[in-house]
Amino acid sequence: MTDKLLEIHNLSKFFPIERGLLRRVVGHVRAVDNVTFAVPKGKTLGLVGESGSGKTTLGRCVLRALEPTGGEILFYQNDRVVDLAGLSRGEMRPYRKHIQMIFQDPYSSLDPRKTVFDIVSEPLRINKMASGKELEDRVRNVLELVGLGVKYMKRYPHAFSGGQRQRIGIARALSINPQLVVCDEAVSALDVSVQAQILNLLKDLQDQLGLTYLFIAHDLSVIEHISDEVAVMYVGKIVEQADTRTLFSMPKHPYTEALLSAIPRPDPDRPLTADNVVEGELPDPANPPKGCYFHPRCKYAQQICREQEPPLARVGDNHLSACHFANELELQGI
Ligand code: SF4
Repeated sequence: MTDKLLEIHNLSKFFPIERGLLRRVVGHVRAVDNVTFAVPKGKTLGLVGESGSGKTTLGRCVLRALEPTGGEILFYQNDRVVDLAGLSRGEMRPYRKHIQMIFQDPYSSLDPRKTVFDIVSEPLRINKMASGKELEDRVRNVLELVGLGVKYMKRYPHAFSGGQRQRIGIARALSINPQLVVCDEAVSALDVSVQAQILNLLKDLQDQLGLTYLFIAHDLSVIEHISDEVAVMYVGKIVEQADTRTLFSMPKHPYTEALLSAIPRPDPDRPLTADNVVEGELPDPANPPKGCYFHPRCKYAQQICREQEPPLARVGDNHLSACHFANELELQGI
């Protein structure tokens, strides 16, 4: 028996760059580049990085909303393991109900012409899992589960606040009892106080239902709050991975240290996100720098960093870092 639910091996997603009338392929955007990780059942892996680091593309590959260029997406079910990356669209259908997504924007992700009942019951109807009275009962149950009264079932999304809409989005995702939920910036569009409510709801639901989350966010405070383990992405690659406490207190990659550096002095006018704490620009994933991709922004860079790419290597118990000097630098955590 394994306690893993999801295991990603060497997953890549490259987008071709085409030029000219004949649409000749002149290069590739390496959005996800050889990524490997596992998510145990009932746990949360947080994926953090700046916008453009590849985390959303990775989430979409796991859902097979995007076709991976290479690698394996191993999904464990009872005593079986299936490589989702190798399945055709038809073969993928039975597994779709086990993996659902909660989207970032609770305003655009809900169809304004449909009632709450229509929206939440849609996955059940599409997957032919319930009809009639049973369908109504299941929608009632899941609305109660996410803290929305059943009296709202016949209302339209415009009648709700951002937090309530995100609860509707969560109810839709959970209506068919998924095992894995990919949360893509699920609280980023919400006010801070509402973010905390939704994060607490997601944690409660995880405890009650044994859900497993792949939680994608650029906000470090959100990642710290919800994740058991954290993977830091930079230009399509994982550069550091560890359990949340270790990664936040003893980072072993200068990029992680840079991301964490603003946490002790939060400023309400400067929200704490991965997008505003690191100097310099994220490199072009179609043309990344030679050696360590982080070297043009790294204050510890040396000659070897400009020439050789550091492998993602073990630097402690369940702790990986892709830095030539991971064991020599004394990096600041929080
Ligand atoms: Fe910085 Fe060099 Fe480590 Fe890259 S390998 S993070 S450039 S010290």
